[in-house]
Amino acid sequence: VAPAILARQEARESAARTYARSLPIVPVEAAGCWIVGADGRRYLDFLAGAGTLAVGHNHPVVVEEIERVLRSGAPLHALDIATPEKDAFTEELVGDLPPGLREDPKLLFCGPTGADAVEAALKLAQTVTGHHNVLAFTGAYHGMTSGALAVTGKVAAKEPLPVAGAVVRLPFPYPYRCPFGVGGAASAEISASYVERLLDDSCGGITSPAAMILEPVQGEGGVIPAPDTWLRAMRELTTRRGIPLILDEVQTGVGRTGTFWACERAGVVPDMLVMSKAIGGGLPLAVVAYRAELDTWAPGAHAGTFRGNQLAMAAGRATLELVRTQALAERAAAAGERLLTGLESIARGKPFIGDVRGRGLMLGLEVVSAEAAPDEIGARPADPRLAAAIRSECLARGLIIELGGRDDAVLRLLPPLTVTDEEADLALEILAESVSAATV
Ligand code: PMP
Repeated sequence: VAPAILARQEARESAARTYARSLPIVPVEAAGCWIVGADGRRYLDFLAGAGTLAVGHNHPVVVEEIERVLRSGAPLHALDIATPEKDAFTEELVGDLPPGLREDPKLLFCGPTGADAVEAALKLAQTVTGHHNVLAFTGAYHGMTSGALAVTGKVAAKEPLPVAGAVVRLPFPYPYRCPFGVGGAASAEISASYVERLLDDSCGGITSPAAMILEPVQGEGGVIPAPDTWLRAMRELTTRRGIPLILDEVQTGVGRTGTFWACERAGVVPDMLVMSKAIGGGLPLAVVAYRAELDTWAPGAHAGTFRGNQLAMAAGRATLELVRTQALAERAAAAGERLLTGLESIARGKPFIGDVRGRGLMLGLEVVSAEAAPDEIGARPADPRLAAAIRSECLARGLIIELGGRDDAVLRLLPPLTVTDEEADLALEILAESVSAATV
């Protein structure tokens, strides 16, 4: 069965398909951190719907909630009309927002993807400020629609450019490959002071920005956590200059990085918080939460047919409640520590693993070319072929991981927050074997 399905889908689907290339499996069953293929093989899923499945596949409480709505006879789709499901979801979500935003937020339900929510946030910032320019960062990933792509860093995905407005690209703090050639903590300091100086430079070319948008931990960009001091510096300078700060927590939200929202660790409160992935419990849902005084939309100024998916709201409410009541953010922090320690020990003495980093259950190993000489701050060139070989070895041993980052050379681990210590240790064991076995 599986080979025929794989062959038919490969023949029919666009050349742009991504995960289907690296994961030639046909999942037919899934529970928790596990997927079962049509061939009966079991896989430990450390991709989890690209970080969507905070409580794992088919969590019984989430499934029960979806079944309850289905059996109730309620409309499955309700545009943006008031419903009991939306009411319950909204109450839960508002209570879970970061302090400082949860007291009096406005919520915009938009199209159901992360990119849709990014578009809406950028548009609102442009409406509020009357400005067009957006400050965005190197390595950023915000989605594939025109405006979201404009603020995304990855050049290969942007050409030919469908740019919607002017974007000023600023250096994200990336100690391993600092654009200023400075490693360690100094990398973040220099990034922050560069941003400040550039904004002050009357010939720096930056006209009044409509917004600054950033991910507190870059995901697709290669799992790069922004230091708390740097995040606070961005909050402070945007406040001082009256620039709305948009935090894209599409991937970092709902406990993944060890706090409910990644910004909470630094005590930073955004003007707008962009959410998708885990807030729908595995079903499509996206929301922007923002300070009430920014709510300058005219009625109908932003819309979208699929704003009212009742199943997603029920699954999302159940997921948010599980993360809150079962302290899964704390669980993610502890499991993340365990995995990070294991990854560091795997990397020891292996010059082809250039960097190990992460926060909570967003973890990455940067694979580099051991033969190449390190640059002045110790970084070697990325080795995407070796990274892909390690990923394939992992899959052959039953572990699903993905690649990201510059040149797709960062092995990324994004397990469900419910991952057990045994599952984490099994993943480390498979990864250690795969790192030793991989050749190019
Ligand atoms: N923002 C971030 C931080 C993301 O990680 C992603 C998806 N990986 C998006 C936006 C876009 O979300 P979607 O693919 O649902 O459009």
